[in-house]
Amino acid sequence: MEDTLLVINCGSSSLKAALFDTSFNKLASALAERLGKEDAFASMPSPSMDIPLQSGCNHRDALRAVVTAFRDQGLLTAAPVAIGHRVVHGGETFRQAALITDDVLQAIEDCASLAPLHNPVNLTGIEATRDLFPEVPQVAVFDTAFHQTLPKHAYLYALPYRFYQDWGVRRYGFHGTSHQFMANETARLLEKAPDQISVISAHLGNGCSITAIRDGVSVDTSMGLTPLEGLVMGTRSGDIDPGLFDFLKGKGINAEEVHRILNNDSGLLGLSGKTNDMRSLSEQAEDGHEPSALAIEVFCFRLARYIGAMMASLTQLDALVFTGGIGENSALVREKTLGHLRLTGFSLDPSSNRQHGKHTGGRIDQADSRFRVMVIPTNEELVIAREALDASHP
Ligand code: ADP
Repeated sequence: MEDTLLVINCGSSSLKAALFDTSFNKLASALAERLGKEDAFASMPSPSMDIPLQSGCNHRDALRAVVTAFRDQGLLTAAPVAIGHRVVHGGETFRQAALITDDVLQAIEDCASLAPLHNPVNLTGIEATRDLFPEVPQVAVFDTAFHQTLPKHAYLYALPYRFYQDWGVRRYGFHGTSHQFMANETARLLEKAPDQISVISAHLGNGCSITAIRDGVSVDTSMGLTPLEGLVMGTRSGDIDPGLFDFLKGKGINAEEVHRILNNDSGLLGLSGKTNDMRSLSEQAEDGHEPSALAIEVFCFRLARYIGAMMASLTQLDALVFTGGIGENSALVREKTLGHLRLTGFSLDPSSNRQHGKHTGGRIDQADSRFRVMVIPTNEELVIAREALDASHP
């Protein structure tokens, strides 16, 4: 009988699950989508199979169906030894992963006002998993925890100080598990101690963020109080002039509507008028669709500005590292972005960039580049699995 670790990531209408053995080999994964909708469905990529879900299926039932599928495949023959949950917001309470107790659940709930779309559904996942496996230790791994090392000058907004004191208005940062993985993986690849590595980590997926990591800890990051700030994203605007709220109010668009537009109708989708998907945009740009080409230009220029900005927090740079669906796969984005930064001495090797660093140990810079540039596939599930085991079996 094999000891296993279960990793759960509940989104607003999705549930991702991954099963690892205790040497951190991935045994299986599953994705349930469109939860709560008529056409809810779930599947496993390997072995490739659909997992039957009832119409309108909720997170709790989806979790049950996924666990049953793992059991039917003979992958989960006994209860897991620990379960790790991705939790989006840990506020200032959680600087590291936490073994879940009733007090921890209450603290996660207390952070929900900072992440009303995420923390409640994360809690639903935890509660459903506790019902299924009441004896198994469960661990919350927070997107924000890695960034709790930010210095005050990096996390404070220039707002009335009481907003921070009374309401916790500050930069928290997200994608922490991914940025932490990138720092550790870069250290491993460069054979440096994890607490001596300094990198700029660009996580470019549907959500995008960039983090400056000095001596292994996060010292600046682009996402803020919420995951809306910073880089251009699939449907999110990233940085805008806050004066926009008042301007649009004059046009009859209220704050709630602006919030929806900035989150759902902006970014690559808003600029191109076509899609939030970078791969499709690149194809359309190649076919001469100008708004798609423009969306890519804005994306890359914003990213280049942020790479420059992250340097303000570093005294040395071991590598600029790209990850996420776009970071790992778009040679075009990497090339265009670093094209804006020639003054800083970045220089890419066109051939290894095209091959995403696959034959060069992740390296895509050329010999005369002032800094290393690398492509490293992220693995947030693995970080959560490790933290789950560490926090539950110290
Ligand atoms: P999520 O944040 O939802 O996990 P991913 O990390 O999977 O998202 O990233 C999704 C993005 O990666 C999409 O914009 C997708 O088009 C882009 N992407 C994936 N493969 C490629 C590719 N070959 N070229 C360009 N973009 C790609």
